[in-house]
Amino acid sequence: MTADRLAYVFSCSAAALALGIAAPAAADTLVDNVQGITIDEDGKVDRFTGLWIDDDGKVKLVLKRGDQRPSGVDYLLDGKGQFVIPGMIDAHAHVLGVGFAALTLDLSDTASLAEAQAKIATYAAENPGRRWIVGTGWNQEKWGLGRFPTAAELDAVVSDRPVWLERVDGHAGWANSAAINLAGVTAASKDPAGGRIERASGSRAPSGIFVDEAMSMVAAKVPRPRPEDRDLALQEAQEIMLRNGVTAVADMGTSIEDWQSFRRAGDKGALKMRIMSYAGGVDAMELIGGPGPSPWLYNDRLRLNGVKLYLDGALGSRGAWLKQPYADDAGNVGLPSMNSSQLRNLMSRAALDKFQVAIHAIGDAANSEVLGAIEDMSGTYEGDRRWRVEHAQIVDPAELALFGKHGIIASMQPVHQTSDRTMAEARLGQGRLAGAYAWNSIADAGAPLAFGSDAPVESIDPFAGLAAAFTRTDAASQPFGGWQPQERVTREQALTAFTYGGAFAGFAEGRFGRLVEGERADFVLVDRDLLLASPEEIRATQVLQTWVGGERVYDSEEKGGSRR
Ligand SMILES: [Zn+2]
Repeated sequence: MTADRLAYVFSCSAAALALGIAAPAAADTLVDNVQGITIDEDGKVDRFTGLWIDDDGKVKLVLKRGDQRPSGVDYLLDGKGQFVIPGMIDAHAHVLGVGFAALTLDLSDTASLAEAQAKIATYAAENPGRRWIVGTGWNQEKWGLGRFPTAAELDAVVSDRPVWLERVDGHAGWANSAAINLAGVTAASKDPAGGRIERASGSRAPSGIFVDEAMSMVAAKVPRPRPEDRDLALQEAQEIMLRNGVTAVADMGTSIEDWQSFRRAGDKGALKMRIMSYAGGVDAMELIGGPGPSPWLYNDRLRLNGVKLYLDGALGSRGAWLKQPYADDAGNVGLPSMNSSQLRNLMSRAALDKFQVAIHAIGDAANSEVLGAIEDMSGTYEGDRRWRVEHAQIVDPAELALFGKHGIIASMQPVHQTSDRTMAEARLGQGRLAGAYAWNSIADAGAPLAFGSDAPVESIDPFAGLAAAFTRTDAASQPFGGWQPQERVTREQALTAFTYGGAFAGFAEGRFGRLVEGERADFVLVDRDLLLASPEEIRATQVLQTWVGGERVYDSEEKGGSRR
């Protein structure tokens, strides 16, 4: 999903959401009487009962039971026996996308086309002043529709204004006739490279669905959000993440406008969480970073690490690039969004200036291409590059070892597996699932794992991800025993991939990610022991408080206590 495509229009008159919660600043703090866990250098769980935080917001001492407590600290937090975990790190999300999704028409909770139509109609009626109706979150699989929805089905509820609705995975868009006409798309329009205009059955007329690169034909006509819209979305996104215990995030596909919003927040002290930024393409990378990655800004709260590139689409819209045709669409192997030499060119432009490269690859052909490119280029671009593959969903089992050979970071989203499982079986067939969502095999190959959510594609909730990671079951505990259970990781591996792993993937290790001496005191107070709780209990975890850099940035008692 690209933040740029999420060009939502909404009113800015909504009351600004307050993020500033009273908290100690620039003072020694003692967090005591807690049951704390952190992950040490060897990936082992370490337990503690107190944290002494210095006036820079860094951990001064990790205290065990029986250790002498410092006297005369400025602020004491009595944890009352509750549980402390390192701040969760989401290694792949779309920060402003999360904010915009929360502020615009969200169809992710609709269970049928009729339900979606009703919600769209209500939203349009409630927002007569909006020139466009823009939204996200629909999923025809979840509706049990067995096909894409059509423009006519949108026209039936809104015909006076253009409507543009992105699919839940951001890889397809649904337009009504007014939007298609404004975009000038007709039966004579050709599919753009890397994209597809779905056609009405038996004709060349556009059906209303635009896949991957074809999306921009309509999306480009949507009025762009103003800077104040982006700032409000950023504030909303931070609130959502912090109340879910997420203290740091990798923003995958930052535009220059997104970056300016991050900077404005940082300049006025309103950047409460940490953002590791990956520019949306090489042009944005050069615009934001100039000659190289930015320094760490605002006490390690913001850095441009590198660039995010797309090599293919997603399985849901059959845009993922496969070695063999889709099992449920003979002859279709999906599509790469660029060819081999284009990919290598872009990777070189980034790597030459020491930008980190993160490449979206879902299908086995896309993963094969990326792994091959890294193999080719790692001789030229030596040193600690930490090439990242985003999603790495379907990998040819014969190529899994390449992740380990080049220390490639597998940036994966456990909840995708639970949401996609039946769809993946339909798209690939039973015989081709061996390298699907292969967390354990990739870890066994020696590659570092970094887990995330891909929010707003999935909920930002890291506890759902954690439970999925070591069970391969969904929120309803299905399927029994886990899907392809050999690819589960251990609870400790899962927690590591959601904390230290995310920091390492963003060159932030030593700064944050673990609760050890000298690192930023980013932690979350929760109501249960994540190492002992059942998966069901973990999904129901309550975040009591969230702290970033020794400062309390979320307190459930002041906010009503609900994560979602
Ligand atoms: Zn994404």
